[in-house]
Amino acid sequence: SDVLLQVRELKKYFPVQKKWFQPASVVKAVDGVSFSIRRGETLGLVGESGCGKSTTGRVILHLLPPTGGEVLYKGKHLTNLSAAELRGLRKELQIVFQDPYASLDPRMKIRDILQEPLEIHGIGSRQERLKKVEEILEIVGLGGHYANRYPHEFSGGQRQRIGIARSLILRPSLIVADEPVSALDVSIQSQILNLLQDLQEQFGLTYLFISHDLSVVKHISDRVGVMYLGRLVELAPKESLYASPAHPYTQALLSAAPVANPDAKRQRIILTGDVPNPAHPPAGCAFHTRCPHAMETCKVVRPTLKAVDGHEHFVACHLHGE
Ligand code: SF4
Ligand code: MG
Repeated sequence: SDVLLQVRELKKYFPVQKKWFQPASVVKAVDGVSFSIRRGETLGLVGESGCGKSTTGRVILHLLPPTGGEVLYKGKHLTNLSAAELRGLRKELQIVFQDPYASLDPRMKIRDILQEPLEIHGIGSRQERLKKVEEILEIVGLGGHYANRYPHEFSGGQRQRIGIARSLILRPSLIVADEPVSALDVSIQSQILNLLQDLQEQFGLTYLFISHDLSVVKHISDRVGVMYLGRLVELAPKESLYASPAHPYTQALLSAAPVANPDAKRQRIILTGDVPNPAHPPAGCAFHTRCPHAMETCKVVRPTLKAVDGHEHFVACHLHGE
């Protein structure tokens, strides 16, 4: 089928500030992540805070330069593009942030916040741009008359609609949504998720949907990837991941989540130990310090993603494959 985005062995390392007499070290925030997203698909990316999911999203959009690996958009290597070429593609690749308030300039009226991306890309006259602003406000479920107001006049849910309008106004193909509903009340969350799904249908959007919340991801995703300490540990179609999680980490996350199927009577798996310091990830399988099934080989050999069945279900764990 039609692949829009391909991520191959993506890496993002951050230098760690140390004392001058200590050797330099790095945090491997993203350490060899590969996946692809089809046109019109939603790929959910989940994991605990600090697992590298947000960094993955930012590196894909080239808001951060990758340390290694490749990002291909419509078959083109984003990594090799000139600044001008990348600017041309910016329109097609947009982001929605977690905290709509922090991402909206409080001194700017909504119409200026929303027409700014059009202006930056040299699209239309001011009058044409303001007309587009009114249209996009209607599309995200706010009236065009809101254009003259300031961000503080809106509720959290309304502000996220404005954040979505801003990412949508350039008519992108791919939207990276980074915890777009995490700051909102549960009742508002489902409204925003429904809006995102409606917009996806209406405009043929493709989403990379990042969240720490498995129930949110379940609602909106076609496939789900699970990250742990900078690595993708499981990747599967939603039905398959939630019905038969293969990685012990995914199993633990699901057993703790309220979305777990109550009929399944899945026993809650309590993980021992904290998430290790990402500057010093455990050797072998990075999850071995917390895994209830860890074996000797897990401490030494890093597992790679392998298919567990014929339906695009992949897992990086020595319990599977071979
Ligand atoms: Fe657990 Fe070993 Fe699988 Fe890692 S590779 S998840 S330590 S069983
Ligand atoms: Mg994050």
